Amino acid sequence: MNLVHVFSHLTECEVVLDPEALESFRRDESHLLQPPPLAMVRPRSPGALWSLVALARSEGFGLVPRGAGTGKAGGCLSAGPSVVVDLGGWPGAIQVSRPDLCLSAPCSAWLRDVKGAAEAAGLFYPPDPNSWPLCAFGGSLATNAGGPNACKYGMTRHWVLSVDALLSDGEIHTLGIASVKANAGPNLAQLMVGSEGIFGLIVGATVRLIPQPVERLTLLLPVDRFEDLIGLPGDLCAAGFLPAAFEFFDPAVLAELRAHGPEEARRLPGEALALLEFDDRGCTEEPFMAGLLDVLGPLAAHLRMASDARQREDLWAVRRMTSAFLKERHPRKVSEDIVVPRSRLKEFFAGLEALKIAAVTYGHLGDGNLHVNLLAAGETEPAELEAQLMALFRLAVSLGGTLSGEHGIGLAKRSAFLELADPGQLALLRSLKAALDPDGIFNPGKVI
Ligand SMILES: Cc1cc2nc3c(=O)[nH]c(=O)nc-3n(C[C@H](O)[C@H](O)[C@H](O)COP(=O)(O)OP(=O)(O)OC[C@H]3O[C@@H](n4cnc5c(N)ncnc54)[C@H](O)[C@@H]3O)c2cc1C
Repeated sequence: MNLVHVFSHLTECEVVLDPEALESFRRDESHLLQPPPLAMVRPRSPGALWSLVALARSEGFGLVPRGAGTGKAGGCLSAGPSVVVDLGGWPGAIQVSRPDLCLSAPCSAWLRDVKGAAEAAGLFYPPDPNSWPLCAFGGSLATNAGGPNACKYGMTRHWVLSVDALLSDGEIHTLGIASVKANAGPNLAQLMVGSEGIFGLIVGATVRLIPQPVERLTLLLPVDRFEDLIGLPGDLCAAGFLPAAFEFFDPAVLAELRAHGPEEARRLPGEALALLEFDDRGCTEEPFMAGLLDVLGPLAAHLRMASDARQREDLWAVRRMTSAFLKERHPRKVSEDIVVPRSRLKEFFAGLEALKIAAVTYGHLGDGNLHVNLLAAGETEPAELEAQLMALFRLAVSLGGTLSGEHGIGLAKRSAFLELADPGQLALLRSLKAALDPDGIFNPGKVI
């Protein structure tokens, strides 16, 4: 294939063929290093996308969508002859409608700007993957991203009203309308959310907003025994308390942070630690606190409360930097994000101990989404590492959970997904893929 010739007719886009410039597209934030793509194309108009789809079909290459490349599953890397479609230059502006309580934005918008635009209008767009300052709106939709406050507010998909998607006919279709009530047939917008680019490209979306919470109670909860923390999310929910976020550090992560982390991390208290946030109306008032202390019982002995916005930010800063800190210290680590129901967390941690995998764990205890990090992955034999990961995934699945709560399947977890998923579900997914992408153009080799 003469690439210069192939791309010479493409207009309204930037094309990069220089091998050196393509090097940066071999990586995302997973542990994978893939071969470079054939080219990187940055389209700026529907016409450019239409031509790109036609070229992909005639020349037999795949189209790999890429937002900011912060994904942790290798989904935006090429697996076979592919062109990376960097959507960072896609045109459009963020627009907020206060009467309709919704926001429309192009896929190229930064998620931080989407959240900021909602906030500037006194409204709240809850999805908060810890990468929110760095990732693109389109990437957050394609991965159905969710962060700490998924505990109360759910994932990105729970906020999506409509999606503008490039489908295999080369055209952009708007799936859904800007309303929470829309029942004229099954919801095709939701099919695109979390599809990791295998059904088409998301070029924009309209999402639902709600009024900003007016009160916040942020608590640091150090405990002497990790076991005491594990049952707490379930106890709180059973008692009628739903935290906006319930994050945790196990003793091993806490020890790493204390020994090698930044100054503020070195002062973290406890054998294990939780960061809880409530944003219910009245959560800073006496009756709420009294009820909460009742559920916490003796665990409340070392409870600390952020008394102002700055203290709250300081507490969150340590949580947010944990992933990047561990990656910097253990560049070849593998970070998993299994999920188990809150009520099965104790069984999960007992099972993990029995597996004798050298892992440290932190993350979203409140919704059972745990970042199990195998720090020594780089020094472990590949077959042994694979066996450890499969044992971990099987444990989660055996407890009614799954192998990914937020990062998705992409390339990194594809073989495990194919092995563990229900065969009926896989067959259905393959039928959908064949119907939506009959020529296998969109993100080939990912997920299924
Ligand atoms: C420090 C750190 C913390 C993180 N924390 C979280 C977290 O708390 N929760 C969470 O869910 N994730 C988290 N992530 C993972 C990642 O940042 C998110 O999934 C993010 O939303 C991906 O956005 P992106 O723009 O970087 O997408 P990319 O990495 O560019 O792409 C991700 C996937 O989406 C596809 N894709 C991207 N854009 C489009 C599009 N417009 N149309 C169709 N497909 C597309 C790609 O092909 C790929 O499969 C974290 C990552 C890092 C580095």
